[in-house]
Amino acid sequence: MPDSLPPSGSLSILREAITLRFAGRIALVSSFGTDSAVLLHMVAQIDPSLPVIFLETGKLFPQTLAYRDALTALLGLRDVRSIRPAARQLASYDPQGRLWERDPDLCCAIRKTYPLDEALEGFTAWITGRKRGQSATRAGLLPQEQGPDGRVTINPLAFWSEADLDAYFTLHALPRHPLQAEGYTSIGCAACTAKPLPGQDRRSGRWAGRAKTECGIHMPRAMARPDWPEDLSFEV
Ligand code: SF4
Repeated sequence: MPDSLPPSGSLSILREAITLRFAGRIALVSSFGTDSAVLLHMVAQIDPSLPVIFLETGKLFPQTLAYRDALTALLGLRDVRSIRPAARQLASYDPQGRLWERDPDLCCAIRKTYPLDEALEGFTAWITGRKRGQSATRAGLLPQEQGPDGRVTINPLAFWSEADLDAYFTLHALPRHPLQAEGYTSIGCAACTAKPLPGQDRRSGRWAGRAKTECGIHMPRAMARPDWPEDLSFEV
């Protein structure tokens, strides 16, 4: 796997990973956000039955759920898995549904990291849509990395620019996320997503006003804090 990857090489890297290197042992994790249609379209060309894992946190915009359904039908994706948080953890640690206000790291752990770790059981690699240009914390992203959970992550769009993405959307007449027209450039849970301020990066509206910049699914599980509940085991 090269250290750099021109946009023209993304499809072949993806095809090799899905059909050869990790055949039957790889999944795509997609937020069905503003850029997601690009990777989903590529995957649909290679294998529309590839498992697509979507973290349905219970806090998403209704427009995101509608976009998921529309893209799934349009692209003919046959195995989109909407993964929800464990009911017992929600009942124990977020019965009011407002954990994001006082402890967003724990909220993300219950709604994203823990469910993803469970959903990826049996897979040795996963595909992400992360890009270097999204934020300073992703500036060193490589096309392939060893993930914090020991699995390989394939990042076919690591070197894509906004212009590359726009061109792909246009070339393939892909629909945009409905909230993009309102100015959202990176879309997660409704409670933790704002529009970016002028001059700030595309992810600056995520957890705006907090030091938090990532939900945790791409970070070492050692971020789990000692004061977290015992049933949130991140020892993968
Ligand atoms: S993004 Fe916000 S609401 Fe969503 S899981 Fe994380 S803290 Fe909770």
